[in-house]
Amino acid sequence: MGKTENLIATGRKYIYTFEDGDGKNKMLLGGKGANLCEMTQIGLNVPPGFTVTTEACLTYLEANRLPDGLMGDIRRHMAALEKKTGKGFGSAANPLLVSVRSGSAMSMPGMMDTILNLGLNEASLQGLIKQTGNPRFAYDAYRRFIQLFGKIALGIADEHFDERMAAMKRRTDARLDVDLAAAHLEELAGQFLDIVKHRAGGPFPQDPYEQLEISVGAVFRSWMGKRAVDYRRQFKITPDMANGTAVNVCTMVFGNMGNDSGTGVGFTRNPGTGENTIYGEYLVNAQGEDVVAGIRTPRPIAEMEREMPGAYRQLTELHNRLESHYREVQDFEFTVEKGRLYCLQTRNGKMNGRAMVRSSVEMFREGIISKERALLRIQPVMLEQLLVPQLSPEFLGKPLAQGLPASPGAASGKIVFDASLAEARGLSGERVILVREETKPDDIHGFFHAQGILTSRGGKTSHAAVVARGMGKPCVSGCEQIVINDKAHNAVIGETTLHEGDVITIDGSTGYVYAGEVPTVEAKFSAEMATLLGWADEVARLKVMANADTPADAIRAREFGAVGIGLVRTERMFNSTDRLPIVQEMILAETQEERQAALDRLLPIQRADFKAIFKAMQGLPVTVRLLDPPMHEFLPTAAQLELEIAHLHQLRDTIKALDDLPDTLKLLNPRLYQQYADGLNKLTGALQTFKNTHLEENVISRKEKVLRKVRALAEVNPMLGHRGVRLGISYPEIYSMQIQAILEAAALCAREGIRIYPEIMVPQVGTVEELKRIHGHVERIHKVVELTHGIDVQYKFGSMLEVVRACVRAGRMAEIAEFFSFGTNDLTQATFSFSREDAENKFLPAYNATGILQDNPFEVLDIKGVGRLMKMAVDDGRKTRPDLKLGICGEHGGDPRSIHFCHQIGIDYVSCSGPRVPIARLAAAQAKLQEAEYRDPV
Ligand code: ADP
Ligand code: MG
Ligand code: MG
Repeated sequence: MGKTENLIATGRKYIYTFEDGDGKNKMLLGGKGANLCEMTQIGLNVPPGFTVTTEACLTYLEANRLPDGLMGDIRRHMAALEKKTGKGFGSAANPLLVSVRSGSAMSMPGMMDTILNLGLNEASLQGLIKQTGNPRFAYDAYRRFIQLFGKIALGIADEHFDERMAAMKRRTDARLDVDLAAAHLEELAGQFLDIVKHRAGGPFPQDPYEQLEISVGAVFRSWMGKRAVDYRRQFKITPDMANGTAVNVCTMVFGNMGNDSGTGVGFTRNPGTGENTIYGEYLVNAQGEDVVAGIRTPRPIAEMEREMPGAYRQLTELHNRLESHYREVQDFEFTVEKGRLYCLQTRNGKMNGRAMVRSSVEMFREGIISKERALLRIQPVMLEQLLVPQLSPEFLGKPLAQGLPASPGAASGKIVFDASLAEARGLSGERVILVREETKPDDIHGFFHAQGILTSRGGKTSHAAVVARGMGKPCVSGCEQIVINDKAHNAVIGETTLHEGDVITIDGSTGYVYAGEVPTVEAKFSAEMATLLGWADEVARLKVMANADTPADAIRAREFGAVGIGLVRTERMFNSTDRLPIVQEMILAETQEERQAALDRLLPIQRADFKAIFKAMQGLPVTVRLLDPPMHEFLPTAAQLELEIAHLHQLRDTIKALDDLPDTLKLLNPRLYQQYADGLNKLTGALQTFKNTHLEENVISRKEKVLRKVRALAEVNPMLGHRGVRLGISYPEIYSMQIQAILEAAALCAREGIRIYPEIMVPQVGTVEELKRIHGHVERIHKVVELTHGIDVQYKFGSMLEVVRACVRAGRMAEIAEFFSFGTNDLTQATFSFSREDAENKFLPAYNATGILQDNPFEVLDIKGVGRLMKMAVDDGRKTRPDLKLGICGEHGGDPRSIHFCHQIGIDYVSCSGPRVPIARLAAAQAKLQEAEYRDPV
């Protein structure tokens, strides 16, 4: 930044022409400006223009006026443009018109403002008519300009103009804007001028330089507009990523000059699938934002080949030049003016995960990018989208309507017609589908909280489609059969009327809309994904394992590419209904014999579970953690028991009272007694039999026994109490049973010829002595298993590292442990000395909002604190045992940033939940490829 700072200080260079701006300097010129410069310089057909820098914007925002000398500079550049184009700014003979366009370093589609056709006034309007011989076109340009300028520069709401437009169409029976004749547009322009005069308290500025000056300021201000600020907050765009907007002044070219003209947007590859074909939409005889605004539904670019063959050839040429130059899929805007194609913008295409994966693989095969680039250009979290649900293939229901498949994936939810309502309902946990005629940037907050988006107008490059794809949310756009009635909060499709709150399902992969909820299925791994992740595995040093507790989880994890199980939580097995009673029996046992009897029943069950998991993971390591949670977690709570006991007492008292009922009644009201004597006798007889069974007494005494146990087990701080290895030390028979189950399962597998690598892991270890004691049991039981099964089971013994002291004592721990696995969830709690639930429910959001903490340390590893402990433990542990195996099995194991750190400190593997395995594999490869640039956060 040294060079640019210098320029601020001397207050000189705020403007660069497209010929001389540095196409790499997006911070200074904005992405749009930098690319306009770059495209101009590589010889693409870009209308001439210049860029006012983001530094000018920052100066403007600080001083609340344009920097000194800027307008003079702009005038000089306009004079140069006049020379280059041979036209005159404001000229009544041959007028030069320009667009004034925003653009910051980060793409923020539609968040800031652009003004088209600037330079039109009563005089140049006549010039434009003369120049083009096309009054209709000229008046159309004029009325557009007045509206845009009125809205953006003067803050007059669109609706005032739109109302007049609608009235004009009604009056003249015009269905579309293009059906209006020159005279209608002229009249409309006059009405628009009146609106401005009336609403802005002054006439529409006729001096083109005054127009320009006001517009540049307005574009600068749009950087701080609510929409833009919200967007930056949501997408975490910080000032070091984008600071201020540049302003691009660009000679106008006209797509609305007749049927040999048009405008469109394109992707060099299909952003939904990644397929290598020009993908996009265009409109004949239209200008600027008509395509994205969803006012007319545009046509797919494929049709352009037939309709405008000459322009289509130029488009193909543009496609090839853009990709070979940028080596990245491009998202571009073009306009055809009388057969000649101009490129007005390009940027890296935002594609969904599926398209990113396919284009990575194909661009590598086409020789456009290297394998490294293919891996690096995809954000690992995007892969999650490839695993989005699809409609169940068995489902054969009839759709209500069909629109355009704008963003893939299926979603069901309640209809909501308003973005703010979508936000409110979404936040309260409801699943909603945002249904609108078309969406605008102001609706963005509703997108975040909707499952999917359905629009009745607009194409596959409409606002709704682009934003939904970026977010990986299903979207169906341009579903014209749906007539949306905003005011009445309903939508009509043929005979059917849908109301707010009705459930619908949209399928963004086909464009179909269904009534009600439709079953979905999980997505399948594509061949391209397998290829890409195969490349990732070749590159990565870190291995990726999965956390899995059941054989089914293990099988799925293996499908996701896990090369082992880094964490099996045995207690999850205890919780299933057929086992819980036995576990409870074990806990409630008064004597060791009773406890052993329960454990003897658990042993075969655990052994079978382990065997099934080992089988599923044949050939790969499986790390089993011995029992971790405090025992009370397997019993009902005291409060629940007290309630149940109270109810039982009540029942007993009621029964007693009923017993006395006949006598009492006889005494008080003999007549009534006579009347009901028969029934009453029957009742007391039945009660007597019930009482003789002592059923309620038995239940009460059993529950009371459990309650006594629950009270005895109660702890002030259960998470810091009698759990993990502490439990194993107090009740060695529990851990012994588990150890036996693991080793016997391994022996049984070995006998069947299944290669397995069990690893026994002890949780919550804080002292070396604890680990030694458990290790003693393992060695003893191993011998027994060898004697009884005749197999010397190979296994590893290790410790979870989740207690601060264990990290500090890692050097000694490694004398006994052959592996460490960082349990970063507990280790984070222990390092911060706060519990996750309390933190997340009470103060963490405020800590994040006010910047006390940058991230949620339970999602993104706290490298500065927890990371330091880990690094110390890694280094000390390896000093003692150079081949010490190191892993991480906390939730952070699936977080890309945390994975980079793990790579950096020399950890061997990360273990995360199954569906995050693909993400972790890609992140592990990226960590390797970017290791030289890695910097610890400071
Ligand atoms: P955004 O950042 O919202 O994409 P742009 O600055 O790209 O805004 O402009 C909005 C629309 O106007 C786009 O469709 C663009 O192609 C069109 N446009 C911008 N400048 C010109 C120009 N000089 N001539 C013709 N169309 C233009
Ligand atoms: Mg644009
Ligand atoms: Mg733990």
